[in-house]
Amino acid sequence: DDVAHDLRTPITRLRGAAETALQSGGDEGDMRDALAECIEESERIQIMLNTLMDVSEAETGAMRLNPQKLNVAPVLDEVVDLYSYVAEDKGVSVATDYPAEIFALADRNRIRQVMANLLDNAVKYTPEGGSVLISAVRSGEDVLITVKDTGIGISGSELDSIWDRLYRGDRSRPERGLGLGLSLVKAIVGAHRGRVEVSSAPGSGSEFSVHLPA
Ligand code: ADP
Repeated sequence: DDVAHDLRTPITRLRGAAETALQSGGDEGDMRDALAECIEESERIQIMLNTLMDVSEAETGAMRLNPQKLNVAPVLDEVVDLYSYVAEDKGVSVATDYPAEIFALADRNRIRQVMANLLDNAVKYTPEGGSVLISAVRSGEDVLITVKDTGIGISGSELDSIWDRLYRGDRSRPERGLGLGLSLVKAIVGAHRGRVEVSSAPGSGSEFSVHLPA
């Protein structure tokens, strides 16, 4: 039901843009604008459907993983690099704390996707002047990767819902997003036989902890 509801808006906009183009009397500029809008909306729909497919594949065990002895450090470096511009633009500092070599049994691309989602959220939900810390340590049989931010935090009543598909917190509305990031994170980490936890409170930031088998 949620999926149908969430797809209705971009599909309605897609159709609206196409109808406007047809009624525009053939002005090339208007036509081009309408086509650009159609592409944008269809991209949104595509991302939503692909992510939903990924989530359900990971949850049902159908996701094809390529687990290997993976040095997590360069993967984290890559993700931090990717978000450094967005964070700098926003005035959020990003720091790291992990050794040059720390191995987990994991699929490189999928773990990059997990970390990208967590870092994206950390930067997105942290106001200017705040900071984000990414760390990784060996913890018993696990590798523990944490993403800690000084952002807006999550209220107790929302903590259970954030992992649900298409759930978006009330205070996240002004930010871009589909509400699928954390469901994907949880599904991928689960497919690795790992687990992900959060500890957060409004106003005092959030800490997401990913445990992966070492
Ligand atoms: P999205 O970010 O697209 O809304 P997610 O599934 O990634 O969707 O996250 C679900 C909700 O969890 C967000 O809408 C937000 O309310 C909350 N959330 C996730 N990460 C954080 C964070 N680091 N700080 C505060 N709130 C967060």
